[in-house]
Parts: sequence; C-alpha cells; structure tokens
Amino acid sequence: MDTTRSDYLFRESLKRIPGGVNSPVRAFKAVGRTPLFIQSAKGSHITDVDGNTFIDYVCSWGPGILGHAHPEVVEAVQKACADGLTYGAPTEREWKLAELIHEAMPSVEKVRLVSSGTEAVMSAIRVARGYTGRDLIVKFKGNYHGHSDGLLVKAGSAALTTAVPDSSGVPASYTQNTLVALYNDKESVRELMEAYKGQVAAIIVEPVAANMGVVLPEDGFLAFLREITDAYGSLLIFDEVITGFRLGFGGAQEYFGVTPDMTTLGKIVGGGMPMAAYGGSAEIMDKVSPVGPVYQAGTLSGNPVATAAGIATLKILKAHKEYYEKLEQKARRLADAFAKSGEKSGRPVQVNQIGSLLSAFFTDKAVRDYDSAVGADTGMYAKYFGWMLDHGVYVAPSQFEAMFVSVAHTDEEIEETCQVIRGL
Ligand SMILES: *Cc1c(COP(=O)(O)O)cnc(C)c1O
Repeated sequence: MDTTRSDYLFRESLKRIPGGVNSPVRAFKAVGRTPLFIQSAKGSHITDVDGNTFIDYVCSWGPGILGHAHPEVVEAVQKACADGLTYGAPTEREWKLAELIHEAMPSVEKVRLVSSGTEAVMSAIRVARGYTGRDLIVKFKGNYHGHSDGLLVKAGSAALTTAVPDSSGVPASYTQNTLVALYNDKESVRELMEAYKGQVAAIIVEPVAANMGVVLPEDGFLAFLREITDAYGSLLIFDEVITGFRLGFGGAQEYFGVTPDMTTLGKIVGGGMPMAAYGGSAEIMDKVSPVGPVYQAGTLSGNPVATAAGIATLKILKAHKEYYEKLEQKARRLADAFAKSGEKSGRPVQVNQIGSLLSAFFTDKAVRDYDSAVGADTGMYAKYFGWMLDHGVYVAPSQFEAMFVSVAHTDEEIEETCQVIRGL
C-alpha cells in the first residue's frame, strides 16, 4: 500500500517519533506532502531512500555552504574520530576554532563553544543579563532564535506590554522578560527602549532575517540598533546562526559594517556537525564561569569531532573569499528566474535575495517584516514546492524558510534550476 520506501518509513516513524520527524519543518506539513527520507548527499545533490536524486537548496538549513560531504571536511572528521569521540577536557582544536572565529569576526574576542544555535542564544542572553544586571530582552517579531522558553513568544495584546508564550508548555512567567519589536520599524524599538528605560539588557536581532523567509534589513536599521543600544546602555546581540560565514567570511557584521556587542553562531560554524558558539568582547565574556558569575556548561561542548569539521570548513572559506562573490552571482540568477516566471505567468512574486540567501514570496507587496511575509500566498508556495520537487529540485517545504545556495552548485545546475523555475 505504500508506494515508496519514504512513505513506508514515514508511516512507521509516525508510530515512534512525534510527527515522524525530529524537527517540525521536516514533516512537509506546510506543503501537504509526505517527507522524503534521505539516504545520502554529495556536493549539491541529495538522494532519497528510493534512489531519487535532487539538486538541494535546503543544504541542511544552512550548514552546507560547501555542499554535502566536502572531501576535506569528511577527511578531517574521519581522522578526528580515530583519535576518540569525546574527552570532556580541553583540546588544541577548540583554541584553533576560537582563533578562526576571532579572525573572521574581530568583535568576538572570546568565544564559548556549545552544541546548538538554541543553546548559543540562550547562553548569550544569560551573559547579557549577567553583564548588564538587567532582565529584559527585546526581540523582533518573525525573528527566530531557537526554541528556548523565553524566546518562544508572540507580542502581548497591547502595545508596549511584555510578550506572551507562542508555544504550549511555556509558562507565562517565562516570557515576561521578553519584549517584541517590529523588524525594520525603528519607532517600535524606540518606544520600547523609552518605556523600559534602564531595564533592557539586550536587543537581539537576525541581522538578515531568514526564518520568515529572507527579509533584508532596510538601510540604516542595523546602525540604528547600534546607536539606540549604546544610548540606553543595552547590549546589541547579532544572531548570526545563519548569516555567520554565509554573507561573507565575517558574516553580517562585516557585510553591513555594524559591530554588535555579542554574536551567536551555529550551522556553518559546525561544518555539518552539531556545534554552535557565542562570544563577544573579553570584558563581557569574562562574566562566564569559571572566571565570572554566569554559569554555562556542556558535556559535549567543543566536541573534538565537531571542532574538526568546523575548523576544516572555516579554513576553506577563509582561503577562498572569492566563493562569496560567486555565491551571490548564482543566487542572483535564481532570483532573476523567479522574476521572469512572475512576468510570464502574471503571478505576483517578490524575491528577497542577499548573498547566497533568497526567498520568493508569492505576493504583490514588498516583504519587509513579519506581517508582509505572512501575507504571501502559501497555497501557491505549496504548488511551487511540488513543481520543483517533481522536476528534481529540493527546496524548503515552507514559505518561511530560505533557499540556500552552496559552493557546490555548478553553473549548469543553476541554469537547470532556473529553467524549472521559469516553467512554473
Ligand atoms: C537555526 C537558528 C537558530 C537555532 O539553531 P539550532 O541549532 O536549530 O538550535 C537560532 N537562530 C537562528 C537565526 C537560526 O537560524
């Protein structure tokens, strides 16, 4: 009765794993399909358990900037495995990776390695609170910072009130220290900073939002956040879990020339292994235990195999800064193809693209914040997703996720993808 091995595995997985998946978006619910179970991936391609191969633009949601199973990264991992999987003691690799991160982002004078982006952000916020002696955090509607309690929030019902839980299981008391501002809306930030003067520990922002689809910061928005956090004695945290090493080797802070107080990293920094990081100036980071009073720890933090993958990945990116220009060109060609398909079909489409990140929104209004993003036609997105998949192209199964281009995508594959898009 199951037509494919993926269908069979999904049906069986549903009995043992909630929704059959270990992270919700993998379930393909938003596009009304059953997920493909993956057998292997190499370069720009991903192959499912039924032997179907696709050009992959999910790239594991960001880590895969070099493409899948890059030979140098795989070799580094294999070598590291042979020396033992974990020690719970410091290694040379942790220091090397910290040096590489500092080279890429000089504002990160000291860094702590952790195991997921969620953990990086949660820890950075604790440090920001410990450093400033303040409790409140400002985040932006539609920005995602992992699934820690205090960040799974939506705006309160009245203006300027603290946030309320956006997930069952989060006590209301856990979100009372979170305030929600609107992306690209300076006035919404100014009002909160003034209303809660002297109480805001930090503003946290995705410098390019990539979890409501890709939404670019408007001119001067990030510089404004720098100025207002300075003016009110709050810290500015850039959540660069996606943008770090992707917009450029130096991430969004280099790209836009705006320097945050703290930075969170994930995805690319682990080279495909579970690793993430948070850091900032030595003065701020020395608040962390065992030097300072802010406790944060991890049995597998700075894992020797994960750091081997991260170092190998960052070294390649550092040695090939020209990759970033090429990535941008490839992403632009894809963006143009969406625009052409819109013109041809008369279907409204907005493409937001920066570096190797892009999103096509099926709407006639510019997408500049959460409300305009959710105004897009998700039914049309589901159709687009099915069309792409049926023509050998694997894209995000949700309107509100980015399309990721990797170094491994060849010009021919980009052209092939453009043809599929233009046929939409
Ligand atoms: C993916 C992501 C996170 C969470 O990282 P996980 O490793 O999934 O916990 C946090 N912030 C941003 C901006 C992300 O894109």
